[in-house]
Amino acid sequence: MFTPKENGECPSAKEIIALLKRPNKEDVALIEKAYAFAKNAHEGQNRYSGEPYFIHVASVGKNLATINVDAATVAAGLLHDTIEDVGIKPEIIEQEFGKDVMELVQGVTKMSKLKYHGVERHVESLRKFFIAMSKDIRVLLIKLADRLHNIQTLEHVPEASKKRIALETLEIHARLADRFGIAKWKSILEDAAFPYAYPEQYKQVLSIIKNERVADAKYAEKMHHSFQKELAAHGLKAARVDYRVKNLYSFWKKLARKEMDSEKIYDILAIRIVVKTVEECYRALGIIHAHWRPVPGRIKDYIAVPKPNGYRSLHTTIFRGDGGVVEVQILTEEMYTEAQYGIAAHLFYKESGGSSGSIEKNTAWVKELTRWQKEVARSDEFLEHLHMDFFNNRVFVFTPNGDVIDLPEDSSTIDFAYAIHSDIGDHMTGAWVDEKLVTIETKLKNGNVVEIDTKESAHPKRKWLDHVKTSFARQRIQAYLKKTNPAEIAAQEFLNRKK
Ligand code: MN
Repeated sequence: MFTPKENGECPSAKEIIALLKRPNKEDVALIEKAYAFAKNAHEGQNRYSGEPYFIHVASVGKNLATINVDAATVAAGLLHDTIEDVGIKPEIIEQEFGKDVMELVQGVTKMSKLKYHGVERHVESLRKFFIAMSKDIRVLLIKLADRLHNIQTLEHVPEASKKRIALETLEIHARLADRFGIAKWKSILEDAAFPYAYPEQYKQVLSIIKNERVADAKYAEKMHHSFQKELAAHGLKAARVDYRVKNLYSFWKKLARKEMDSEKIYDILAIRIVVKTVEECYRALGIIHAHWRPVPGRIKDYIAVPKPNGYRSLHTTIFRGDGGVVEVQILTEEMYTEAQYGIAAHLFYKESGGSSGSIEKNTAWVKELTRWQKEVARSDEFLEHLHMDFFNNRVFVFTPNGDVIDLPEDSSTIDFAYAIHSDIGDHMTGAWVDEKLVTIETKLKNGNVVEIDTKESAHPKRKWLDHVKTSFARQRIQAYLKKTNPAEIAAQEFLNRKK
């Protein structure tokens, strides 16, 4: 049996506030109030672990504070389970904390209500769905912070749910953290989920990496000093050198791509050199190359050409002189900060005063979102809506198997049927929404599970045209009506005869 842990492990309001950059009086007051409110709201509630529930929400608040978000996001993180788990009304939250915080909490609540069926399939549409469901990127950050704590306490969750949660975390949350450029969260999410998602592979990787890591860490210590000496000798006295070891899950993924040959993986261990300016980055690269021979074809300039998630750095792999190789990453302090905070660094860090509510105007965020949407959705219709209100005019619904179908707002079950397959649309007789029989013109709402009844003898009707939103459904219905219209058939036959 589990034993409840000490309350001492619960992050305090002070601790959370201390993590914020330049909080003003209102920020401090907001967080203190949210902290006290959440503590009171979750009083008497426990987690699977037997711990007080409040430890979870305080941890979520702390996670958010570490990536340098605004005070409203941290407050919403503290309050994120108050609507769903303890039935606090959104009006109360708005009254106490304002509209901004309330909307964030509501956004998180809305997302939690949706069920994900069969994560192994259609992860791309699930990711797309996730993004579209959150009007505000801060909602996603709260969801990630929430999952970060949940996955680290997964051992206490009932056995039956573990694997599903672990897979979902790898396929959705870790990838989103990566897209946000929050490298640290990505690693934590992956390594916490890996043993539950793929237990066999986890054990295998553990045994492979064990010796290499130990050897490499010792080597890194030695290398660390030689680098520092060499850089200082060439005038880069302020250079900071440290190293990072690749996380287990990404090591395994790479291993699988390299035919399970760990010799082919050059970046199990990477040495990081942090300097002051971009110019110093290139100078440091020159110094390293002058003393250690680079592996051909392994030099990457992510400063000139940043990665899609914004990551910037110079990468090179050098021969260490003992037959092995090691990756070296050279970056500025600013790039280093960005790699830690990810998108949050763009969102909040550069804004003086750090006021909330200005996110829509932040060009870095809009740019990132645009890039991201391009990547997650390739259909033309999707691309037409690259502005913010895209979120307001799509609905995301599910098939009984859990496939996500995205449709324009006000789409009916007819649109849904045609989106599944033209044959299903053409032979539709009725529809079920959330297990209730409905009329086929019924408009769909986010999260609906839709099932279509069909009969071979059934066919599209003219009045369906009044109830469809998608051009695909419209075209199919019109095509059928044309085909079955006697005058149309006669005309077609006439034309054919003339040929
Ligand atoms: Mn939660």
